[in-house]
Amino acid sequence: MSLSVAIVGFGKIARDQHVRAIAETAGVSLAAVASRNASLPGVPHFTSIEQLLRGAPDIDAVALCTPPHVRRAQAAAALAAGKHVMLEKPPGVTVSELDPLIALAARSQRTLFATWHSRFADGVEPARRWLASRRIRSIRITWKEDVRVWHPGQAWIFAPGGFGVFDPGINALSILTQILPQPLFVTTAELSFPADRDAPIAARLALTDDAGLPITAEFDFRQTGPQSWDIVIEADGGPLTLSRGGARLAAGHELLVDGTNREYAGLYRRFVELTASGASDVDLAPLRLVADAFLLGARKIVEPFKD
Ligand code: NAP
Repeated sequence: MSLSVAIVGFGKIARDQHVRAIAETAGVSLAAVASRNASLPGVPHFTSIEQLLRGAPDIDAVALCTPPHVRRAQAAAALAAGKHVMLEKPPGVTVSELDPLIALAARSQRTLFATWHSRFADGVEPARRWLASRRIRSIRITWKEDVRVWHPGQAWIFAPGGFGVFDPGINALSILTQILPQPLFVTTAELSFPADRDAPIAARLALTDDAGLPITAEFDFRQTGPQSWDIVIEADGGPLTLSRGGARLAAGHELLVDGTNREYAGLYRRFVELTASGASDVDLAPLRLVADAFLLGARKIVEPFKD
C-alpha cells in the first residue's frame, strides 16, 4: 500500500525537489497540498494544515516544507491527528522545541523524520566509509553561496529563527556529523549580522573533538560567481574532498564519486521505511552545533542587506 503524503508549504523546495522525489519513489504518492497561496494543478488544495487535517482524513503523512519557525506547531497538529511527519531541515528554531514532538511521536506510534537532505548526497556514505579506517588531521569546510540566487525574496531567512547563513551552513554540519563517528563541539564563532537584519549573513566557526581535531567552517551568503559547497579532509592517504554539496568525492586526484542530485529520493525511501514501523529518526547534532555557535558567537555588524 502506498503512503499518501500531503506537502505543507508549497514554496521553492517543495517545487524543486519534493514533488519529483515523491513521483520517483516507490511506495509513496502525493495526495494533497496545503499552502496559503500556492497550489499544484490536479492535486487537492487546502489553505492551511488545519483545513488539510479536517478535509483530507485519508492522508497518512505530511511533509512540512514551510519555514522552520512555523513547523513545530504544524508537526504537533499532524502527529495529534495520527499522521507521520517529515520535517524539512533545520528541524526547528530551538533545540528544546523538538523534545515534545519526539515524545508525541513515540506516544502516538507515528514517525517523526527530521531530514538532513545533504546526508543523502552520493559522496557522503562513501566518504564515511573511506574515513572510518584512517587518521584525520584536519577538516576545512567552505560553504559559500549567493543568497539572492538560492533564496530569492525569502524575508524569513533573515528574521529571528530564520538561521541566516546557517540555513545552508547546517547542511555542511549535517554531513560533518554524519561522516565522523565522534561527538564534535564548537570552540569559537564569529557571526556577521547585516545592520538591518536579525540573522547572520556570514559565519566563521572553529570546531573540534575531544582529541583536539582542528575543524574550520566558513559560511557566506554573499558569494557571487562560482559557488562553494566543499569539505576538505586532510587524512592519512588523503586529502579527501567532498564537493558540490557532497555529490562529488575525490581522494587526492582520484575521483571516487561523481554523483547526481538524488538526495530527496533517498529521503522519501527512508521515510517510507520508517513509517512501515512508526519509527522515528531525529538527530539533533547539526542543530546543536548551530545553537552553540549562536551562544558562543562574537557578533560583527556588517552593511545592510538589500534584497
Ligand atoms: P519558501 O520558498 O519560502 O517556501 C516555504 C513556503 O511555506 C512559502 O512559499 C509559503 O507558501 C509557506 N509559508 C511561508 N511562511 C509561512 C508561514 N508563516 N505560515 C505558513 N506557511 C508559510 O522556502 P523554501 O526555500 O522552500 O524553504 C523551506 C524549508 O526548506 C526551509 O527550512 C529550508 O531550509 C528548506 N530547504 C530549502 C532549500 C532551497 O534550496 N530553497 C533546500 C533544502 C531545504 P504559501 O505562501 O503558499 O503559504
